Amino acid sequence: MNIQNERERQFTATTHDPHDARHHGAITTPLYQTSLFSFAKYEDFEKAFENLQENHVYSRGNNPTVSFLEGKLADLEGAESAKCFASGMAAITAAIMSTVRSGDHVVCVHQAYGPTRDFLANYLKRFAIETTFVDGSSLQAIGQAFRPETKLLYLESPTTQMIELQDLTACAKFAREKGAITIVDGTWATPIFQQPIKLGVDMVVHSITKYISGHSDCLGGVVLGSKHLIDQISNSEYMLFGGIMTPHAASLITRGLRTLPLRMQRHQESGLRVAEHLNKQNYVAKVNHPGLASYPQQDLARRQMSGYSSLFSFSTSESMEKMKQWANKLQYFKIGVSWGGFESLVTVGVSPDDRGEGAQTMVRLYVGLESPEDLIRDLDQAWTDHVK
Ligand SMILES: *Cc1c(COP(=O)(O)O)cnc(C)c1O
Repeated sequence: MNIQNERERQFTATTHDPHDARHHGAITTPLYQTSLFSFAKYEDFEKAFENLQENHVYSRGNNPTVSFLEGKLADLEGAESAKCFASGMAAITAAIMSTVRSGDHVVCVHQAYGPTRDFLANYLKRFAIETTFVDGSSLQAIGQAFRPETKLLYLESPTTQMIELQDLTACAKFAREKGAITIVDGTWATPIFQQPIKLGVDMVVHSITKYISGHSDCLGGVVLGSKHLIDQISNSEYMLFGGIMTPHAASLITRGLRTLPLRMQRHQESGLRVAEHLNKQNYVAKVNHPGLASYPQQDLARRQMSGYSSLFSFSTSESMEKMKQWANKLQYFKIGVSWGGFESLVTVGVSPDDRGEGAQTMVRLYVGLESPEDLIRDLDQAWTDHVK
């Protein structure tokens, strides 16, 4: 793939829509704030039921504002089809449920998003579905965890604490040979920097709440894949669990999507600037950012991603309490969960690699759209002020 051509394609794909005569030439997608669609004739009503995904009957099925966004996301990701959900977790649990049944086994990377791990490890146990968690950076570990009844390989690349990758091409190939489906959570990279379907992965999930929405004002999720797999989800998990994306959220998210390529370019530059600065500070032990020379999976990062987003972490030998006090002194980095919006954020935790003995304090930073120079000054002043 020519990266530059793809980058240019993304700018046009997010901003251009084909003329739609149904909307009087309205340049934005109309917000169909409706729960149901009515019919002049009973015959048409009955005919519409033949395909609830294509026809307009009820908004827990098909709403034009939501399906417009789904079309744009599928195009951007290079997927045949997409289904949007109320949140990232609604999308993830629907995608997982569509691939497993009682007695099946799942292999999942051990650093996957916490609630995803909780769902696999604890919730699915009720249905006699077992999960083995593995070190995703080792193909050998993944292979060894597979059993004859393994039906799903669940990946998250990069992970969002330690920013660790899995080799998507090799994982997807291995799982396919074993008759298992591969799902990857691609929230960190977004479709701008990583397109796993093109690498052979069956389904991609994103928390839209993060970069795709980009404005910290709504939640959403999406599952992307072949028409066959997404139709199955639409007809069962989507319709039955009902975790739908509202037309209002879809309208806000479509507005955010217009600037996704532009924002990601800025996030990439600023994130790397801040990471490079932190890498030189003596209170920082190690910065986990794929753009740094010290990053252990740099070759793989270059092979399967065309850029880097601006969420990263660093470990430090300072105590957690000390770093919490440091976070209190930050002005531009606000203390809070989530990320992907306009504003920079910070959280302090323990490095999940070595909990217990030798556990290190880990700080996760999200670099927003502020001036990176202001952010760097903020980090420096908080530390100077702190050690006084
Ligand atoms: C936030 C997040 C989710 C969950 O998304 P919600 O929209 O909060 O439900 C899933 N995966 C990753 C990697 C995330 O960062």
